[in-house]
Amino acid sequence: MPDNCPQPTQLIACEECGLVSQIPQLDEGQVAKCPRCSHTLSSISIAPCQTLIAYSTACLMMLAISLLFPFMSFSVKGITQEIFLINTVAMLDAFEQSALALLLLLTVLALPALYLVIVTYLYFRIWQQTSKGKLIKPSSRLLVLCKSIFRFEPWLMADVFLIGVLVSLIKISSMADIGLGYSFWAFCAYTVLVVKAISLVDRFWVWNQLLPNKPMTGVVAGQDHLSVNHVDCHQCHQINLMSEASCNRCGSKLHPYDLNTSLQKSWAYLIAAVIFYFPANLYPIMYTTSLGSETPSTIMGGVVLLWQLGSYPIALVIFIASVFIPMAKMLALAWIYWNAKRPKPYLYSRAIKRQKLYRVTEFIGRWSMIDIFVVAILVALVQLHNLMAITPGPASLSFAAVVILTMLSAISFDSRSIWSNGSAFKECNTHE
Ligand SMILES: [Zn+2]
Ligand SMILES: [Zn+2]
Repeated sequence: MPDNCPQPTQLIACEECGLVSQIPQLDEGQVAKCPRCSHTLSSISIAPCQTLIAYSTACLMMLAISLLFPFMSFSVKGITQEIFLINTVAMLDAFEQSALALLLLLTVLALPALYLVIVTYLYFRIWQQTSKGKLIKPSSRLLVLCKSIFRFEPWLMADVFLIGVLVSLIKISSMADIGLGYSFWAFCAYTVLVVKAISLVDRFWVWNQLLPNKPMTGVVAGQDHLSVNHVDCHQCHQINLMSEASCNRCGSKLHPYDLNTSLQKSWAYLIAAVIFYFPANLYPIMYTTSLGSETPSTIMGGVVLLWQLGSYPIALVIFIASVFIPMAKMLALAWIYWNAKRPKPYLYSRAIKRQKLYRVTEFIGRWSMIDIFVVAILVALVQLHNLMAITPGPASLSFAAVVILTMLSAISFDSRSIWSNGSAFKECNTHE
């Protein structure tokens, strides 16, 4: 432990590797990382309440602007089609793709907006109370909000949608004149702000502000999930004793470390994803009508066509996002799950490599949704009847199912199983 390390005051179990660390009460601008796997345990921004409220308010304003004004226009031979952002949802619904329309509405607009409203409210309440020097008395409603909000984070996909918009623009720019409305620029600002706002939210800090972390006797830094003497609350990260059925801070039901159940769920989602991968690639993802004749296009067919037309970068983006990433992610997850129950002599380097692979698969999985968003934008924008029209194909729903199921599979996996208790650090690892 460094000489100038402050006195540790609270225990926190790393949600990725399970190692229990003792960290001090963090000051603004400080970050605490897990000494074993380097996962960020807690990170406090400068003036956390004011910064978060400023970003999320600006973000909600940009979202409102992007919904009120025209998003894009598309002109061919003097005929112009103009769309609003919400038309991308409405058109999918009109073509009987209600599940995709709902997915788009939730992941790009509704959930990010709800998330921002709730975190703004939480941070505002914390700011209000702490500026008066009072302790917060959280109502049961506030606790329910706090428990539900963090579940949304993996499903906020405004940034993926924006890349989908850019890919669509490049795809159709050669066949028509594209106009960008005020809403497009507001949506770009909304995306940047939503990504920044999410990065500012710290679950551990929020819970500590609402209900102070309860000290635990019998659990010490350096132990982990294999010590079988504590349960980490998956909601608020309070460490509880094994004898507790529910968290003694937030009241959530506790789930002791259980590799078998987590692996069964992960395998089930992964196998379902593999099944959907076949129709996703074999059936057309969209149909293009041009001068009365309809051409179906599969994901791979679209990549080949773009390559033949000389759009190499865009062909590469679609190939990587829609073909390579889903396949690589499914193989990587299968490999991680397969090895999880096969104990080998503990090697730190092997565990950290697997942890990194798992983090990468978790991070990149959502980007496969680009192709679904491209279909949604093209279907909304290109509707010039027999002259030129694009309609969604049956593969689009299967492909969305592949992306969602692989995400659920990765989320269900307990990454602590990658680690054995062969190495544990007790050092304080706080830095500015
Ligand atoms: Zn860790
Ligand atoms: Zn809890």
